[in-house]
Amino acid sequence: MTRSLIRACLARGCNNVVRGKTYCHDCQRTRDRVKATRRPDLHNDARERERRRRAVADHRAIVGDWCPGWEGRPAHPSADLTADHVREVAKGGSPYGPLVVRCRSCNAAKAAAVLTRIMATDPSPAAPLITHDDDPGPVAK
Ligand SMILES: [Zn+2]
Ligand SMILES: [Zn+2]
Repeated sequence: MTRSLIRACLARGCNNVVRGKTYCHDCQRTRDRVKATRRPDLHNDARERERRRRAVADHRAIVGDWCPGWEGRPAHPSADLTADHVREVAKGGSPYGPLVVRCRSCNAAKAAAVLTRIMATDPSPAAPLITHDDDPGPVAK
């Protein structure tokens, strides 16, 4: 049996009480989004990898080695195709949501743009990722 600790959410400016967790639901969600954008491989379990591989294979079978481009970038030939989320996980999309296939470069450009937009709206995206063995106590407001 695990005993749950009741403590204050560790996010700056948040005094929600959490049980057995470091951050409250809302704060955790924000952090997960930022993390997911920085580390797309976090959602890289075997099932998801297979799903992406299949999405790329399907794309190749239908249109060949071709990237549809992204925002300013026109469609262009590319053999370096990767699957990406239609609705970014960082913007609240499901990690297992529908995929779109683009070249690595276009997907990277898109991920960078999404992260920039989140950083502009999230007040504490740069908060250090800490593991808590000690309880810092409630955060003063
Ligand atoms: Zn919180
Ligand atoms: Zn491309």
